[in-house]
Amino acid sequence: QPSRLDSVIALAKRRGFVFQSGEIYGGSRSAWDYGPLGVELKENIKRQWWQRFVRGRGDMVGLDSAVILPRKVWEASGHVATFTDPLVECLHCHHRFREDHLVEAFQAKKGRGPEGGMAEIACPNCGTRGEWTEPREFSGMLKTYLGPVESEEGLNFLRPETAQGIFVDFAQVVTTSRMKPPFGIGQVGKAFRNEITPGNFIFRTREFEQMEIEYFVPPASAEEHYEQWIADAVAFYTDLGIDPENLRRFDVPDGERAHYSDATADIEYRFGFAGTEWGELMGVANRTDFDLKNHIEASGQDLRYFDQAANEKYVPYVIEPSFGLTRALMAFLLDSYHEDEAPNAKGGVDKRTVLRLDPRLAPVKAAVLPLSRNEQLSPVARGLADDLRKNWNVDFDDAGAIGRRYRRHDEIGTPFCITVDFDTLEDKAVTVRERDTMGQERVSLDRLQGFLAERLLG
Ligand code: ATP
Repeated sequence: QPSRLDSVIALAKRRGFVFQSGEIYGGSRSAWDYGPLGVELKENIKRQWWQRFVRGRGDMVGLDSAVILPRKVWEASGHVATFTDPLVECLHCHHRFREDHLVEAFQAKKGRGPEGGMAEIACPNCGTRGEWTEPREFSGMLKTYLGPVESEEGLNFLRPETAQGIFVDFAQVVTTSRMKPPFGIGQVGKAFRNEITPGNFIFRTREFEQMEIEYFVPPASAEEHYEQWIADAVAFYTDLGIDPENLRRFDVPDGERAHYSDATADIEYRFGFAGTEWGELMGVANRTDFDLKNHIEASGQDLRYFDQAANEKYVPYVIEPSFGLTRALMAFLLDSYHEDEAPNAKGGVDKRTVLRLDPRLAPVKAAVLPLSRNEQLSPVARGLADDLRKNWNVDFDDAGAIGRRYRRHDEIGTPFCITVDFDTLEDKAVTVRERDTMGQERVSLDRLQGFLAERLLG
């Protein structure tokens, strides 16, 4: 019996949601490509997020900053010095691992920490126990060289988080948008980390996408906003269909937080990995005035906010909800994956796989299916599909038995299948089948757009 995670990974590959990057050359575990359905799903998640947190709120604006920022940004932010992970190497097979990941996996399996330290931990690759090098700090920043010579002078970094672009543009956004704290800046974009152990499908990759908010507040109200953002972040997932039972909050203890953080809550999702069931879906951090203060000092620019009412300047505190877009996509796939039964043509039942994705996220919104491949039905169905495509991503499919076509669309989460049959030619109506209930309804063609608009929501 394959696990839900294995089934979802297989489905993602089979149906073109996600496949390994460069597979014809053997692929790599560290990069994945989003196929025709994956890119739609990813765009839909992004759109929902942007609508909910940026456009839909009066206290938020958007930004799209560069991936390669001046090197000084990363020196000032502390990333060059402290964005590192402890790396250990197995003395037997020379495979390298993150020390903290080995400890976490041990804890998840045994229900206790490795009291004897690394001596208790076996190498996941070769099984040798306790033969490790001392941990070495390893930079998570991806380097690149700009300009004609590969020298120290041209050394630059690909951003490991989108956040710094927001901090360095803070004053410009305040001046041009006339926003006043509490207010936030949202950004969606790629981030890069030289992960030592990429894996678990798209959970940990070297190239990934983030959806981040830096929310600037008067210091005294930071705690209140921190709690509010944790609640708002969770609501984003549950409103789009994630089962609250599969989410939990983990308050990151002292000593384990990122270098900039005063308080961090991870929102974890039950990904169902072997060993550790739960994994970090996203994080909310109180970054205090750490980043802005460092940039003020390093750049010599006054980035304080001038509060006219109080006639004083201050450095705002920052609450940062940091969403991983690709991890979110993985959670939405996992949570929507179901196996149930559907009636078949012989009067029995067949097993069916269905993605119960929220219609706002579904990559294909409706499929138009002529009852059979036929000279009279196909042109009508094609015309209808073209018409609906002006508004939605709509599929046309006339290959194979109708039941098989329903199954194909259940499997990719298409909320509605629209069947064009011989009666359509007479009564100008179609049969609309709903994915989850498999209920069918006759809808006249002149009502169809409105029918779908009401049910597809955005
Ligand atoms: P982890 O502990 O899993 O390495 P992190 O605590 O370093 O993650 P943050 O720096 O808080 O992660 O990044 C914010 C979010 O960005 C994460 O919650 C996650 O959703 C996403 N993210 C971080 N690293 C990766 C990665 N390598 N691949 C995919 N998503 C990532």
